[in-house]
Amino acid sequence: MSGVNPAYEIAVIGAGIAGASLAAELSASGVRTVLLEQEDQPGYHTTGRSAAVYSPIYGPSPIRALTRAALPFFNNPPQGFCTGPLLSRIDAAFVAREDQMEHLETMAREVADASTVSRVEGAALKERLPLLRDGYAMAALWDTGTSEIDVASLHHGYLRMFKTNGGVLKTRAPVMGLMWDGAVWIIETPHGSLTANIVVNAAGAWADELGQMAGAERIGLTPKRRTALMIDAPAGADLRGVPLTIDVEEQFYLKPDAGKLLISPANEDPEPPCDVQPDEMDIAICVDRIERAFEVSVKRVERPWAGLRSFVADKAPVVGFSQKAKGFYWLAGQGGYGIQSAPGIAQYAAAELRGEAVPAHIIAESLDPASIRPGRLGIGQ
Ligand SMILES: Cc1cc2nc3c(=O)[nH]c(=O)nc-3n(C[C@H](O)[C@H](O)[C@H](O)COP(=O)(O)OP(=O)(O)OC[C@H]3O[C@@H](n4cnc5c(N)ncnc54)[C@H](O)[C@@H]3O)c2cc1C
Repeated sequence: MSGVNPAYEIAVIGAGIAGASLAAELSASGVRTVLLEQEDQPGYHTTGRSAAVYSPIYGPSPIRALTRAALPFFNNPPQGFCTGPLLSRIDAAFVAREDQMEHLETMAREVADASTVSRVEGAALKERLPLLRDGYAMAALWDTGTSEIDVASLHHGYLRMFKTNGGVLKTRAPVMGLMWDGAVWIIETPHGSLTANIVVNAAGAWADELGQMAGAERIGLTPKRRTALMIDAPAGADLRGVPLTIDVEEQFYLKPDAGKLLISPANEDPEPPCDVQPDEMDIAICVDRIERAFEVSVKRVERPWAGLRSFVADKAPVVGFSQKAKGFYWLAGQGGYGIQSAPGIAQYAAAELRGEAVPAHIIAESLDPASIRPGRLGIGQ
């Protein structure tokens, strides 16, 4: 197939959760949108490799606001979006050893407004976290506002919504060239050229590379490898009520998962954009940290995997028009929070692309739009 296709109003590049959610929101308001994905499977990269947690107290302030703003969508998605609930409740415990108490106090100050968070110490801590080694932790911040996300349902729901609304999804369509001809973007793929008035860069770990293709500013995006794996739970352990347990300095986390334990060293190792694989050293470090903290002895490692969490310097997402390339919109830098915040970010970006004001429910969560615009990075020109 080759030749120039009919013009679209918006071309979204990258069909992970960021691109799929925005494309679906745009299609719902009748915007003629094409969604281009280089892989066969839209969730092949970071979106399909997450730990599936919704935590409104995790991440920098703009992410926490957008995650709170996403909650109404998670709890009440459009009719026909999915067949079951998108969220299922799990508690989260941010644990601190004696030498980490300063970090716990800092976090406690940051999330002081969250009514779902309380402090657990001493005997109560051991009672509520029986898997922890005796004497390992001094205190925890306990959150009852956390959930697990059905990521596949969320992602497929958005893709279905997009297609049902007349959106065009093209997979195996790597964008190889982007040219602004003074009126429209000409987008080169192996299947031919497309034209669109606006290009949205939702290319995940590749976002800075795609930006360079378009002549946009660099946002200083660093993809960082994070590894996770599954292990058996200790024999006879009752996993009901075991919370997602996170080291307060993010040195590890552990989560019950279908009768097993999902564990991670919570690593952030810089990598070029790629189909990243877990490193043997990540796995060894993970096992060591988990065995130090928990009454767990790892006999066998199952299904290790890794994905790229992509950050700019301040760890907030980059959402807004480029200051350098006309009609080029950034939707990047979602880091380790791109699933939980996706509905909020998509609603924000769709409104901006339609030329509307920031939706009231997002403003109500105290998002400062300047904290996510590319211009804040000071590298616009
Ligand atoms: C181990 C791990 C645990 C995580 N846990 C959580 C969690 O618990 N909760 C949470 O909210 N987040 C979590 N995250 C982060 C979350 O997964 C990401 O923030 C999110 O998936 C980013 O989505 P995305 O659409 O930006 O990126 P991606 O899913 O990577 O999508 C980008 C897409 O762009 C495509 N693309 C790139 N270049 C081109 C091109 N030139 N042409 C066409 N297509 C292109 C790629 O193929 C890719 O499919 C975790 C991540 C990891 C790795």
